Order: sequence, then structure tokens, then C-alpha cells
Amino acid sequence: MLGIYIHIPFCKSKCGYCDFCSTTKYDDKMMDGYLKTLVTQIEEFFEGSGKKADTVYFGGGTPSVFGAKRIGKVLKELRKHVEIAPNAEITVEANPESCDKAFCKELKKHGVNRLSLGVQTAIDSELFTIGRIHTFKQAQEAVKTAKEYLTDNISLDLIYGLPDQTMDSWDKSLQAIIDLNPTHISAYGLRLEEGSRMYKMNLELPDDDMQADMYLYAIEKLKNAGYDQYEISNFAKNGRVSRHNSKYWDLTEYLGLGAAAHSLYGGRRFGFDGDIEAYIRGDIQLSESEDIAIEKKYRKGEYIMLMLRTAKGIDEAEFYNIFGEDFKEYGKKLEPFIKNGYAEYDGMAYRLTPKGYLISNTIINELI
Ligand code: SF4
Repeated sequence: MLGIYIHIPFCKSKCGYCDFCSTTKYDDKMMDGYLKTLVTQIEEFFEGSGKKADTVYFGGGTPSVFGAKRIGKVLKELRKHVEIAPNAEITVEANPESCDKAFCKELKKHGVNRLSLGVQTAIDSELFTIGRIHTFKQAQEAVKTAKEYLTDNISLDLIYGLPDQTMDSWDKSLQAIIDLNPTHISAYGLRLEEGSRMYKMNLELPDDDMQADMYLYAIEKLKNAGYDQYEISNFAKNGRVSRHNSKYWDLTEYLGLGAAAHSLYGGRRFGFDGDIEAYIRGDIQLSESEDIAIEKKYRKGEYIMLMLRTAKGIDEAEFYNIFGEDFKEYGKKLEPFIKNGYAEYDGMAYRLTPKGYLISNTIINELI
């Protein structure tokens, strides 16, 4: 079963930390043009393909700015050419200021059953500093509206390591998010990419040690509130993990459509260029393309890297089934990390501990 990602590159304003492909200069004509190219791409990739999908994910950008009607049209077009499973997970990302009753009701009509809301912090002064245009109260209202008119399957995004953020304010944010009782929480450490506005501002940020403390604190607090960590940055209650994002980690095929969308599809890993206006004109260029062996059995390094980011870790029997090779040799390299509390082995599987996630790149480099 395929995963389908649709990139929507429109935002009301640009957040200070963001370097994603999105524009704030748009109007209805431009969004209609974007929709038209999406429809063309869907036809090109899927007409007569007989493909089946069980996850669809609208990310961005801000899909709620694109509007529920256009999202509905994309879904309608997808259903014409792809067999979408009856129990498919269909997620739409939204921001609190553009997630209202009409939006939720319309999404429900089109079968959307999961909402991912960018909350980032519950402290209004921190929201202001990072250039978000909503308050925490608006986020609370959006969650309430979504639960009433769309779904209770709601994921909330949080960021730690923000300017002026303290352990105390981080604790308040976590508690406020837990109080909203979402099914899923993603918590990311702030990384300022060169293209972002905040990168150039020379801001005082919590140092690496403080970020590490915030991360470990979040894992413990979320665990006590019933959220199981199933990936470095992701936590779910009652098993309601993101089925779509899980495809990225276990190397299932997915196709990304829209400007700057990436794919692992048809034996290739590729991405489209992020020039939004060129995309609307139908001038769709690849920003990268790599022929790869699509089958997992040829992709050992990638498998190890991705699975060690998950709580499942690397199951020895599964590894042997896929690669026809014992994981023990790699296991030996993990021994010093196990001894020092960065990884663990339960007799069947190897996985990193929360402390190990903090230095996951080092451990993975050591292994592969
Ligand atoms: S963080 Fe999200 S809402 Fe903010 S500018 Fe980037 S894509 Fe848009």
C-alpha cells in the first residue's frame, strides 16, 4: 500500500524559523492554478496504474490556507485513479488561525480523518518571538472545533529550544498540550536553517545541554501522561501513531506531489523543484533524482539508520529475513553504547534509549 503526500506551499505569513517551500504572496487565482497542476500530476502518475494507497497526507506550507474545498477536489481526483483503502488515514496539516468550523465540516465530507495542528508552544510571548500569528487560545479553540466537527485523531506539534524558553515555560507548554488530550504529539528541537529569518538574527537560544534536558524531560512527562515514544520526535496515545510518517521510516513506497515534494517511488528517490510559479505553469523540474534498488533487501544502511530512530529498533529476525544476514556484527559495535546506557538489547531487538536518541547520528555513523 502506497502513501501519498501532497505539498501545499501557501502560508499567511512566514515563521521566523522556517525554510520550508512556501510563499505568502498568493491569491485565489494562484491557488486554483496550483490545484490544476496537482490534478494534472495525479493523472500523469496514476491514470490506469491500478495503485492502492492507505495513507494520504496534506502538508505544507499551510493546507488550511489552501482551503477545504480545494483539498476535497484533490481527494476526489485521487479517488478517480487510485484505490484509497476504506480505512485509509487521511491527514491534513492546519494552523490554529485558519482551522475553523466550516473548514472542519468540509474536510469531514471528503473523508479526512486526522488533523495535524501547528501549535509549537503554549506561551504567547514565545509564539510572538518566532513569528507565529496565532495565540495559544486560538490553538485551544481549533482543537475544540476539530474534535466537534472533524475528528478526535489530532496531532499537535511542539518546538523546544526556542529563544527565551526556560525549563519552566517548556513544562507549562507540555502540560497545556497534554490537557488538550490529542492522540499524537510531535516535539522537535529548534534548528535554524540558513534560509530562515531567525538564523540571521543572532538570537540567544538555549544551549545544547539545555535542549537535551528539555528533550529528556518531555519524554518522561509525555510517558507519564500516556504517550508512548515511537520515534525520536513522535509520541502517540493508545497506538495512534502516524501511519503515513511510519512509511518514511520503514521504507514503504510513497509518492509526493506538488512543488518541493519528495518521493520514494517506482524504483527512484526523487524530489520536485520548489519553484512554485514554475510548478503552476506546469514547468515541473526535478531537484534530485536517484535510481535506487527499491526493495528493502538492497538498502541495509538506510534501513539501519531509519529503524534505529524508532522505538521498535532493529529486530534480529526481521533483519535476517530482509537481508539474509546476521545483525550480530552490528550488534557488537553497539555494545559500548549498551554498556553506557545509550542503547539496549532485549535478546531479540536492538534499540536506542532516550539518551541514545540524543546522539543517534554518532551511533548510526559508528554502525554504518
Ligand atoms: S512553519 Fe509552517 S506555517 Fe510557518 S511559514 Fe513554515 S510552513 Fe508556513
